[in-house]
Amino acid sequence: MKSTSLSVDAQKEKRRWIYAKKVSGSYFAYRQYVGYTLLALLLSAPFLKIGGEPLLMFKIIERKFFVFGSVFYPQDLHIFVFGMLIAMVCIVLFTVVYGRIWCGWACPQTIFMELIFRRIEYWIEGDANQQRRLNKGSWTKEKLIKKVSKHAVFFLISFLIANLFLSYIIGVDALVGIITDPVQSHFAGFVSIMLFTLVFYAVFAFAREIVCTTICPYGRLQGVLLDDQSISVAYHYRRGEPRGSIRKAQADKTLGDCVDCNLCVQVCPTGIDIRNGIQMECINCTACMDACDGVMEKVRRPKGLIGFYSQKEIEFGPERKKNVRAIAYSVVLLVLVGIFCGLILNRSVVDGTLLRASGTSYIFRDDGTVTNLYNMELTNKSSKKIPFGISSADRRFQVQVLSDKKMLAAGETLRFSLFLIIPKKEVGTYKTSVKLCIGSEGKVIKKMKTNFVAPPVAQQRGAN
Ligand code: SF4
Ligand code: SF4
Repeated sequence: MKSTSLSVDAQKEKRRWIYAKKVSGSYFAYRQYVGYTLLALLLSAPFLKIGGEPLLMFKIIERKFFVFGSVFYPQDLHIFVFGMLIAMVCIVLFTVVYGRIWCGWACPQTIFMELIFRRIEYWIEGDANQQRRLNKGSWTKEKLIKKVSKHAVFFLISFLIANLFLSYIIGVDALVGIITDPVQSHFAGFVSIMLFTLVFYAVFAFAREIVCTTICPYGRLQGVLLDDQSISVAYHYRRGEPRGSIRKAQADKTLGDCVDCNLCVQVCPTGIDIRNGIQMECINCTACMDACDGVMEKVRRPKGLIGFYSQKEIEFGPERKKNVRAIAYSVVLLVLVGIFCGLILNRSVVDGTLLRASGTSYIFRDDGTVTNLYNMELTNKSSKKIPFGISSADRRFQVQVLSDKKMLAAGETLRFSLFLIIPKKEVGTYKTSVKLCIGSEGKVIKKMKTNFVAPPVAQQRGAN
């Protein structure tokens, strides 16, 4: 498999500023649809509500997490652990099959950089060559105006992103409080906003592709995860080589389709030449595919010299097996995501425990019944009040709750005792499994199992 990666020497080299040429084409159009849709979702998620709760919010300090309108507390750690495991498996499977599509098409870093910050840069400073000239030129009034305007807009957008980021962590209402109240009443909040603003500004104005090529661990994992069947943006070297200019190609008919125009390198936001093979720095943004397709159209050769290929496909031609593997992995991905969604949707808003009171035994009552005492703990995991009642799924048992409380406040944990009561003559075995139902507004919202202990009716004469 032909591939290269950042060598140690290359990493030690002084940074070369990348002037990525403006790109247009069908892939860029699709990327804009996907990117702006995801951006709209990212910008609106803390404000959108499902059943009165935010679509997405992670209140780390309050230890409350909102996902699709459901509230998660530390008690739901198992769902989060399972969710993280599923996410890890999904990342591995997805990368093995589809390469780094995530990086180029869905990663917030790329979306903000390519669809917002770079667009603004083109708008103020012009295309790659104009930017290069501007940076090399002396400090004229025009350069000063362009640089100040660009960095002012970058800083403003970074400030907005910092606010958005914070709204995910502290909630929209708290953020509005920080913005509208005097600075001294929320000094820590104000400092956090400014710190995040500076970080985002530094990332998008200066660090840029370094985040993808050096800082992000996912990019570094790529080398381990990809194999010769993984689909990624690749140069079809069997078709393109030996490369040569159009003029050379007219004289030499043995040359390949690559006209060596270098356009694929000029549009690359990470500054690599995809013709050198799959590289760790490639974020699969497809800019080189658009650029090369445009060139192929002009020189009247088939598009797709740079395209989505596996190394095996380039070497041995298209194979059916590739699709079977992609479909199988995609099915596994869908099943895992389905299980996780099922877990979230079927999760009860009330959690709790039910334990037999320690050191107690069964008690025969004068009214002809026998009882067991239990301790129950109920936690309301939603941010709404929940009225509740407790009943037994087994009609022979009655529940006597030793508490007046009929309502669980948002986030409240309630501890109380209860008796399970059954007529003596109904006891069939020494240990009976009983299911208790926590009901609210006509619906069962939680079921809990326990054991009821009492001698069966045949053995009760001596026990009475
Ligand atoms: S090589 Fe192509 S797909 Fe990869 S980062 Fe550069 S332009 Fe994007
Ligand atoms: S854009 Fe296409 S034709 Fe031009 S150098 Fe790159 S691969 Fe070759």
